[in-house]
Amino acid sequence: MSNAQADMIIVGAGLSGLLTAWRCLDVNPDLKIMIIEAADKIAGDHTWSFNLTDVDESLRAWIKPFIAYQWDSYDVKFPKRERTLDITYCTGNSETLRACVQPHIESGRLKVKLKTRVKELKADYVILDNGQKLQATCVLDARGFEPNENVFLGYQKFVGRTIRTKTPHGLKRPIIMDAKVAQLGGYRFVYCLPFTAHEVLVEDTYYTDGPELSENEVTARIDDYINAKGWGDHELVRQEKGVLPITLAIDFKSGHGKSGHQENDGRIGIRGGFYNAVTGYSFPEAVKLADEICDEMEIFNDRELSFLAEFIPQYREGHYDEETFLRLLNRMLFRSCAPEERYKVLQRFYGLPRDLIERFYAGTLSKSDKARILIGKPPVPVTKALYNFSEKAFIKRERARRESDT
Ligand SMILES: Cc1cc2nc3c(=O)[nH]c(=O)nc-3n(C[C@H](O)[C@H](O)[C@H](O)COP(=O)(O)OP(=O)(O)OC[C@H]3O[C@@H](n4cnc5c(N)ncnc54)[C@H](O)[C@@H]3O)c2cc1C
Repeated sequence: MSNAQADMIIVGAGLSGLLTAWRCLDVNPDLKIMIIEAADKIAGDHTWSFNLTDVDESLRAWIKPFIAYQWDSYDVKFPKRERTLDITYCTGNSETLRACVQPHIESGRLKVKLKTRVKELKADYVILDNGQKLQATCVLDARGFEPNENVFLGYQKFVGRTIRTKTPHGLKRPIIMDAKVAQLGGYRFVYCLPFTAHEVLVEDTYYTDGPELSENEVTARIDDYINAKGWGDHELVRQEKGVLPITLAIDFKSGHGKSGHQENDGRIGIRGGFYNAVTGYSFPEAVKLADEICDEMEIFNDRELSFLAEFIPQYREGHYDEETFLRLLNRMLFRSCAPEERYKVLQRFYGLPRDLIERFYAGTLSKSDKARILIGKPPVPVTKALYNFSEKAFIKRERARRESDT
């Protein structure tokens, strides 16, 4: 690797790029990584939340410095069910993520190139917008979400406002889903995270078929919710929005693998399909993959990291296999229920045992857990549920629909 700028180049200094760099550099003392970011700072300006049980016990000590806020329990609220779940909920943010990688930047082992856009990317080199070519034995692509015609999606869309209230807001623990709000064109809930006694994030979320989001309308509804809670006297700290992919089905293409690509197989993070099919959240999968990459490095500890271009696609196929059941649930939610009735699926789900709910979000459901989720009085019409059962038939119908639309 005489012309190589680093052992590994990571394109995109967002969540997955930085978690991977952090883990790999912590575990491998001789490794050198270059991370290339289009924006003028690493890690952006975000918060990322997760259940502590989403992260394997062996990795919890490692991710501890990332956690900015932690709560012992949270609430869910539906028209016919209210429940407090004793599940530890955590939030990290851009500042804590930057602090996690800072020692490696200072040691010179993590070289950061800011305000630099990559225009072409292969397994062992990248070409920048200015035409410069940079080489490494391995290139990971962590550039964030990209649509893929072989992945069939619904969407989770939201606007979040963090406010500072004049008097204490009084919210003791997060409300992960407050679905007692009007259901407008899909499953809708409000999500509240009380960061401090005066600071609270209020997010209005919609599970709908299309990605369109009217930020002004949603912001007005958040204000209504805030006022109804008695938090009208406040200042706005920040506002964020998101449109996350919810996977309904993935097509198998002969010779392409489930990821639908042959090239550029160092895709990690949300770009590589490493997110939870039901929530669109990617923190737990990004942590898992960062650790798996490290484990692979230990097996092939000769510094030539090109084997990762084969390992990552195989690992992706395993992830897609594990999520077959989650995609089925998404088809039930999005295609078997009238939009205003979708909340009933979640209302029923949150009546299940706490440890099953934890395993659901951690991606570790057993066969009997899956049976438990499906049995009983279904909250969706049985004929429609059966119609959407087969992923293959669903894909065939979706392809035909797309063709007739064009
Ligand atoms: C508002 C919002 C809130 C979310 N909240 C959560 C949450 O609470 N928990 C959770 O698990 N998930 C959450 N997600 C989902 C998901 O985890 C995040 O989107 C996460 O940041 C995805 O990580 P990533 O590394 O794949 O992509 P990103 O974090 O988006 O990083 C991609 C990076 O690549 C850079 N880039 C793009 N193109 C180029 C290029 N050509 N050259 C160089 N750099 C480039 C971008 O500037 C960016 O910094 C949220 C998403 C959003 C949008």
